[in-house]
Parts: sequence; C-alpha cells; structure tokens
Amino acid sequence: MDQSLKSPPLSALDDAFHAMIEASRNAPPPPLAARLDSLKRLRAMLTDNEKRLEQAISADFGHRCAVETTIAETLFLQAEIRHTLKVLSRWMAPRRIATALQFWPARNRLLPQPLGVVGIIAPWNYPLQLTLAPAIGAISAGNRVMIKPSELTPQFSALLKELIAARFDANEFTVTGIEDGIAQAFAALPFDHLVFTGSTRVGRIVAEAAGRNLTPVTLELGGKSPTIVDASANLDEAAERIAYAKLLNAGQTCIAPDYVFVPEQRRDEFAGKVHGHMLRMFGTNPANKDYTAIISDRHYARLEGLARDAVARGAKLLHTTSPEDPAWKSLRKFPPTVVVGAMPEMAIMQEEIFGPLLPIVTYRDAGEVIRYINAHDRPLALYWFGRDEAARDAVLARTVSGGVTINDCLLHFAQMNQPMGGVGASGIGHYHGEWGFDSFSKLKPVFYRSPFNRMKDLYPPYGASIARI
Ligand code: NAD
Repeated sequence: MDQSLKSPPLSALDDAFHAMIEASRNAPPPPLAARLDSLKRLRAMLTDNEKRLEQAISADFGHRCAVETTIAETLFLQAEIRHTLKVLSRWMAPRRIATALQFWPARNRLLPQPLGVVGIIAPWNYPLQLTLAPAIGAISAGNRVMIKPSELTPQFSALLKELIAARFDANEFTVTGIEDGIAQAFAALPFDHLVFTGSTRVGRIVAEAAGRNLTPVTLELGGKSPTIVDASANLDEAAERIAYAKLLNAGQTCIAPDYVFVPEQRRDEFAGKVHGHMLRMFGTNPANKDYTAIISDRHYARLEGLARDAVARGAKLLHTTSPEDPAWKSLRKFPPTVVVGAMPEMAIMQEEIFGPLLPIVTYRDAGEVIRYINAHDRPLALYWFGRDEAARDAVLARTVSGGVTINDCLLHFAQMNQPMGGVGASGIGHYHGEWGFDSFSKLKPVFYRSPFNRMKDLYPPYGASIARI
C-alpha cells in the first residue's frame, strides 16, 4: 500500500518496523553482556510492576485470579529469565561438529547468529506470558523484537507498551498498538521470524501472510487435548488433577485437558469425583476470587451454546447452577460443568472448548481411544493417567501430539529444558529455553579448511592421484 494512503497507526507500524530492520542490518550482533543486560531490564520491569500488570490483566478479564497470574505468568517468566541468564553463554558459543576423516585436520563449527527482527503475535488468555516468553528467546538469540498483543486485553496491552518503551530503545524492543487493521498489517511485515500464538484458524491466515515474504514461522496453535483415564488409574487422584487443570484460568488454557476418556463402567463414579473436586476447589460462590471470569460476553455465550447443544443431543450436565444463572452470568463466571454422555457429533466434541466444561467420553478398550485420537487433528497436549506401563507406552507410541504429561496435566509445559510446540494443526516449531534460542537463531555451519589436508588431489587433471584418496 502507498504509505500516504495508510492510516496513522499503520504508517507508524511500517516506520517502526523499517527503522528496526535498518538498525539490525547495520549493527554487529549484540554481545553476551548486552543480551544479559536486556534480560535483566525485562526482569526488573516485571518485578517493579507485578501488581500493575496483574491488575490490568484482571481488569481485562473482568476478574483474573491473582495467584493464577503469579504462577502461570510472572513466576513462569522469571524462571525462564533466570535459566537463560545462567546458560546463555553456553548457548551462544560456537558448537563443535564432527569432521569426516577425509577432511581432517579441518574443523566444522555451527555458529548461532541472530536472525534480525522477530515479530510476536499473542493471544489474550495468558497475555503476559505469551508476549514475553517468546521475546526472552528472541532477545537471548540477539534479535530485536516487535510485539502485537491481543485487542481483547486492551488495558494490559497499553501497560505493556508503556513499560517496554520506558526501558528499551524503540529500535531494540517495542510493542505496537491494537488498533483496527494492525493485526493483518503486522502479519504482512517481512520479519526475519514470526511467532504466532492463537487459534488454528487465524494461524492459517498468518502462515499464508508470512509465506508471501518467506518469513519462517513458529505457530503455537490450539485444538482439543485429550485426556485418558486408564483402567489402571487411581480414579480419585486423576479426577482431582484433571479438575484443577481444567479450571485453571476457567479453562481458558491452550493445553487444558479438553475432554476425558473414562472406562465405560467407571463413568459415573469419575463424573461424581471430578465434580466433587471442582466444588471443593472453587465452591459455589461466583464471587470467589480464586475463580477467573470468561474474557468476554461473546466467549461466555459460545460456552453456553456448547452446553445447550450437548443437552439437546442427549448429554447430562453436572453443575451446581446453570450458566444462565444471573449471579454467575453478570460476573461472567461460568459454573464448572461436567458433561456426562458426550458424543462425537456434539459441538463440544468438535471445537476447542476453552472454558470450564469437561465432557466425559466412555470407552471399552484402549484401541478405540487411540483410533479416535488418530482420526482427529493432532493435539497440542495429551494426558494419560494410570499404572499400566504397557498401556501407557502403547498410547505414547501410537499417538502424535505436541507434548504429554503422564499422571498429571500441564506440567510438561513447565519444564525449562523441554520444547513447547504443537504438531500438525496444533502448531509448527518450538520454543522455551534452548529450543527458543535455536528457533530464533540462524545456526550457521562453517567449515574451516586446514592447510594440511589433501583436497588438492581431487582437482583435475584426474590421474593416479585420485586413487590415493
Ligand atoms: P486468535 O487466533 O483469535 O488471536 C490471536 C492473535 O491473532 C491476536 O493477537 C489477534 O489480534 C491476532 N489476529 C487475529 N486475526 C489476525 C489476522 N488476520 N492476522 C494477524 N493476526 C491476527 O486467538 P485468541 O482467541 O486470542 O486465543 C485463543 C487461541 O489461542 C486458542 O485456540 C488457544 O488454544 C490458542 N493458544 C495457543 C497457545 C499455544 O501455546 N499453543 C497458547 C495460548 C493460546
């Protein structure tokens, strides 16, 4: 588009991007000390503004449990920064690669090099973690970073923009606004790498836009994460852990257990237990500060629609009150709900739930479960509960998913040294820890020829010398 025809926010975006690209092309890669300094500034920003950030997120949600913001966002980022500060010099060091005998005594090295400018598009559900965790990886790899946060968290987005601008040069690290048209314009910029976290639907659009620039992407997408309760599982323990993971952030978690497979004869016992744990943890008072609200009326209505559709198709809901109860609805708190008798044709089994509704699907043999999972999109996460190691290993071997936690939910994501990323419809690429550093680096192979090897023997005219090689 002609620059003069662009609205002020779009031309400001373009200008900021080109200034950053120019700065990245004209400066040497930042040394270790500069990267450590940036990470420490980010850490100080988080520490000094923890309360303001938590309040802004809560205001955007209507109510966000403060402990959830601390655990899932602030502490998570602090841990990622702490880990990176400790090991960054090792990640940055040239990596030795073995050299084949015929090239000896030459050397092979892999040199990690910043890509340049990394763009980050983030969703609303963990707005702080999902803007800054990829930024930590990108900065540690020596890149400059531009973030586009979600329009559904306007107060948080404005605060993040202000806080980053106060501590970083605009050519180094910046946050854009959330005005109309910014999202599409942002995805169309020719970044050196683009990280998108969000829905599979928008992920496809972003991948297409990036493809036009041949911009490499990391796509952290959504989908339905199945949870399997094996016949060998401790039912009460599984029910408690699933209840917690489902209701964290009121189910608005990309790796939340979406639905659960339970052996047919144990369905009602499991349903009672999981609902009992939900009540014990979050009670029956919608004003409970531990329970997070649904992000918008539109999202609340979508969840109500899923529950209504399930009931119309024969499911039974286990909850203390209906989501239409004005005491809950006025606060956008969706009552924790177990959906007993979920069937594949129900909308709740077809779209990502992203809310506090837990459908229970029954099965007779484990093969059925594996066939069901393999007939659907590859999930972002998979959870398995039980003691039967052969049954566990069969599921691990025969299903493909972004990550797995055994005998709990979510925890594979909290491991600093494990890669985070989906597969197929749940995502492309990885980040977190060294995986992020590598994703946002060009790992450049360099061959250092030795004056002493006999490569010359390969040059024409070919004769007897070739036989000596
Ligand atoms: P979304 O896809 O609606 O939006 C994500 C971001 O994309 C927002 O910043 C939005 O402004 C932007 N966007 C929208 N249209 C765009 C376009 N045409 N071009 C460029 N950008 C555009 O997702 P959401 O509702 O914010 O988040 C929920 C989804 O994110 C769920 O599906 C969830 O599973 C997924 N998610 C995945 C992860 C993960 O790590 N894999 C983490 C959190 C959330």
